[in-house]
Amino acid sequence: MAKKWVAGYDAGEAIAAALDSNSRGMSAILNFLGEDTTDAKIVDQTVREYLSLMDLIGKRQVRGCVSVKPTQLGLAIDYDMCLQNFKRLTARAKELDQFMWIDMESVKFTEDTIAIYLELYKQYDMTGVAIQSYLRRSASDLLHIAEHGGKVRLVKGAYHEPEEHAFSTKEEVDANYVKLMRMLFESGSFFAIATHDSNMIEEAIRLSNDSTKEFEFQLLMGIRDELKNELTTKEFAVAEYIPYGSQWLPYSVRRIRERKRNLLLLARSLIQQ
Ligand code: FAD
Repeated sequence: MAKKWVAGYDAGEAIAAALDSNSRGMSAILNFLGEDTTDAKIVDQTVREYLSLMDLIGKRQVRGCVSVKPTQLGLAIDYDMCLQNFKRLTARAKELDQFMWIDMESVKFTEDTIAIYLELYKQYDMTGVAIQSYLRRSASDLLHIAEHGGKVRLVKGAYHEPEEHAFSTKEEVDANYVKLMRMLFESGSFFAIATHDSNMIEEAIRLSNDSTKEFEFQLLMGIRDELKNELTTKEFAVAEYIPYGSQWLPYSVRRIRERKRNLLLLARSLIQQ
């Protein structure tokens, strides 16, 4: 089932998927799967993987960039180690004139991730960070990032968080998404609306009619391809997020949990084994 959402095991397969996105009118955002790394050797290998992936993006003339999880670069081990690793990636992104996104993970990393982002942003402004509408703190984080001119990818949030930190109903998460989206259309510099939710996308289109702000829609590989096509046909900027690598399980479990129908598909695929 994971093959639907993950390009393959290696960078070659990820680049092929990215070129395919480009041929369908989208840019590509490549993520080397992995998270919560507590082994410094694996962190180092991950940094090297991203550096060579960025080179490949340049060499193969992919219209796209990378998106990195802070705990892949050592945030679960040491803040400074993670910051230094990110600095190596942003330095290469700058040389290659590529954008770089930072994914947002569970709430215990939010504060550090934003601090790292703002530090990197001083060095290179073609970077952005994900902000999650399920977190109660996100409106103030968004304002803080906007004050520095930073760039945000707005998502709903993919982790299980306690109620003291996160809204628990879809209605609350969606209402906060709309509120944050309005803030972005008012005060954001370039930003991304990353969702598969037609209601959120329609609201973004409505807001864009009265705005000159530059933004793009972002959707995950393997989800709502017909909607991607509709948006590119209407000449909206669209990016497809493409993960690859051997650590496909946690990512795929999050996608399964997001939609009851995916659970049924999983059950069917297991029965057919
Ligand atoms: P939902 O309310 O979950 O879904 C709305 C509708 O979209 C559903 O009714 C269904 O029609 C469709 N849909 C949603 N999910 C699926 C699915 N798995 N399969 C089929 N249809 C589906 N989260 C983070 O916490 N940190 C990040 O850095 C991060 N980066 C992301 C980057 C991109 C480009 C995208 C698109 C998402 C990212 N996410 C991230 C995940 C996000 O937080 C949500 O978990 C995910 O997008 C599902 O929420 P939704 O906005 O699509 O809305």
